[in-house]
Amino acid sequence: EDKRLYSPKYVKEILERYGFKFSKSLGQNFLIDGNIVRKIVDEGDITSEDYIIEIGPGMGTLTEELALRAKKVVAIEIDDTLLPILDETLGKYDNVEIIHGDVLKIDIEKLIEEKLSGGPVKVVANLPYYVTTPIIAKLIEDNLNLQSIIVMVQKEVAERMEAGPGGKEYGSLSVFVNFYSKPEIVVKVPKTVFMPQPKIDSAVIKLEIKKELPDVDKDKFFKIVKAAFSKRRKTILNSLSTYGFNIEKETIKEALEKLNINVNTRAENLSVEDFIKISKTLPPLDI
Ligand code: SAM
Repeated sequence: EDKRLYSPKYVKEILERYGFKFSKSLGQNFLIDGNIVRKIVDEGDITSEDYIIEIGPGMGTLTEELALRAKKVVAIEIDDTLLPILDETLGKYDNVEIIHGDVLKIDIEKLIEEKLSGGPVKVVANLPYYVTTPIIAKLIEDNLNLQSIIVMVQKEVAERMEAGPGGKEYGSLSVFVNFYSKPEIVVKVPKTVFMPQPKIDSAVIKLEIKKELPDVDKDKFFKIVKAAFSKRRKTILNSLSTYGFNIEKETIKEALEKLNINVNTRAENLSVEDFIKISKTLPPLDI
């Protein structure tokens, strides 16, 4: 246990020896709890057949657990001061490859093709919180050969991703995530498992990527969702007719009535299915 990377003593020793300074702006909160590390990997159902992308390996704590269980791990780290540390901590695992770069700029499709046999790939990460949503958006929108995404994120963000209609957490992020995947929060995580401790609570969420997406014009669908949630207090009829789609209010009213959707309902009460039906029924949008 003492020599595993999640041992706080070992983490401190390595960080001191390398003179490493945590960067707040890169969202660096490292895991120092073996139970959480194992829990994340357990929930990913990682087997020796699996190809993994890890985002932000830090000093390699989660990476090591993945290396022990998966076929191959490619880990993308932006901070070059961590590279010599990762060399030391993960050098003994020949199924790990570290890529130095910004996950938002890397061509992930090419990476999967060249380094991970074309996939399918599982993404596992303790994400830097300042870029959680852009990273998840990039991963699921890009039509990559992904099977699932298991990530530690801010608790509130996890709750918004998982939410269904009817609550205050439900919004365009929920619709986005539920369109592409089946989300499930698998564990809530206290601040104490990180070094340094963040101010916020965290949660691990698993997104099971859908193999087949709903048959709908995605661009139109997401414009309608955006319009619907742009004024949360407005009725769906008012949001859609004042957003600039250039469709007569009467036309929208008829479409909603035809779908048995109350024109006075609000976006937060409409399901992904409802938004799909609305997208299919409205005429083409002007923007
Ligand atoms: N996986 C490690 C752990 O659990 O102990 C570290 C997690 S820490 C929350 C986030 C990591 O992501 C840091 O190592 C940080 O340097 C890295 N990171 C931040 N922004 C990144 C980006 N745009 N691309 C790749 N890595 C990034």
